[in-house]
Amino acid sequence: MFEKILIANRGEIALRILRACKELGIATVAVHSTADADAMHVRLADESVCIGPPASKDSYLNIPSLLAACEITGADAVHPGYGFLSENARFAEILADHNLKFIGPKAEHIRLMGDKIEAKKTAKRLGIPVVPGSDGGVGPEDDAMAIAREIGFPVLVKAAAGGGGRGMKVAQTEADLLMALSTASNEAKAAFGDASVYLEKYLTKPRHIEIQVLGDGRGGALHLGERDCSLQRRHQKVWEEGPSPILSPEARARIGGVCAKAMQDMQYLGVGTIEFLYEDGEFYFIEMNTRIQVEHPVTEMITDIDLVLEQIRIAAGGDLPCTQEEINIIGHSIECRINAENPETFRPSPGTITQYHPPGGLGVRIDSAVYQGYKIPPYYDSLVGKLIVHGKNRPECLMRLRRALDEIVVDGVETTLPLFRALARESDIIEGDYHIHWLEQYLAGKPAKT
Ligand code: ADP
Repeated sequence: MFEKILIANRGEIALRILRACKELGIATVAVHSTADADAMHVRLADESVCIGPPASKDSYLNIPSLLAACEITGADAVHPGYGFLSENARFAEILADHNLKFIGPKAEHIRLMGDKIEAKKTAKRLGIPVVPGSDGGVGPEDDAMAIAREIGFPVLVKAAAGGGGRGMKVAQTEADLLMALSTASNEAKAAFGDASVYLEKYLTKPRHIEIQVLGDGRGGALHLGERDCSLQRRHQKVWEEGPSPILSPEARARIGGVCAKAMQDMQYLGVGTIEFLYEDGEFYFIEMNTRIQVEHPVTEMITDIDLVLEQIRIAAGGDLPCTQEEINIIGHSIECRINAENPETFRPSPGTITQYHPPGGLGVRIDSAVYQGYKIPPYYDSLVGKLIVHGKNRPECLMRLRRALDEIVVDGVETTLPLFRALARESDIIEGDYHIHWLEQYLAGKPAKT
């Protein structure tokens, strides 16, 4: 087992990793920018190192500074969390070159899944159903119109290097295609330094359903059921739940089995998420994330498996925690991502939290790094914390969620709490009847079911 882990992240996920390290008896090193000197992860870690000024590129993305921090503290492994360097294959290789363990998948798998065109080809090869689309990238030499006609409009132009919903444009009709191609390609070039794009059938009312997987890197792999992340704004998840309100145990076992088998064939190492769109009873692969995800607690609540702790154990050479047959889905869980944003315009609202009272009671979990008097810096994401609720079934979970949302107090900054309080009382949500465009339509004041 590792002796000392450097946590190359900030905010709630840094604290989440720290908790797993404490339980395993592993010493922790926090790193922070000058803007995060007062952060909770810095206060609670055994040691801390300032790695640079506020801008992420100079601190949390600064590989030489992180290596120096490992060197001076004697850390033997690095946990990258999510975002920042978590899906940077080069970072994983550089750590290996310095005899440091990267707590994550093999570099080759990060690289493969980081290119969505390659990822889709791999998925297809491994027997995972994919969204109909162009076979590879669509460049100036290709007849994009012919490919789009064959797929059938509407089509979605997507960036090969995409992430966070950027570099994605819908072409409803033939007239929109050229514009969508150039906009998506320019956006991708600006955001990721890679202009490659591909085409996909645009599904009009799918749900986003993702399968959590865990592999030992030696051909052993499990699936831990699904999360339904269909409530999204600008392709970003807002509310996640598991199990999906619409998936039968048979459908779960079928798609979960396909994913677990694919991970066994790849000899995948660590945690991962295989994302699908689900429409009319069919699954369509869109991408795989090779890291711990923001919404991982939903799976932890319904399987009672600590994903971050298992991720660390497996990175140190440990075995899978159980067999597939031993995994049981227990009750229901919902996670709300509470952001410091105006609940109507979604404009970020950084500032000082003047009053803070986290909710408690049976089945209620808060993953957050804020405290009363904490100043949310303007440089990073606007996540205040995640409220995760568990119940023995969905109605009980919703009941506890409404109660917890009414109890939580976050004053001094605007938050998205009023949105969640309203959502938890909406009849479509209570019935579990929603798809990936529901939330945008609801926010626009349109009837969402059409
Ligand atoms: P990113 O990596 O930017 O998050 P994804 O491929 O994971 O991109 O897609 C993010 C979201 O965009 C999905 O959850 C879904 O809401 C929407 N989306 C992606 N592909 C399609 C598609 N083919 N049809 C309709 N919506 C899509």
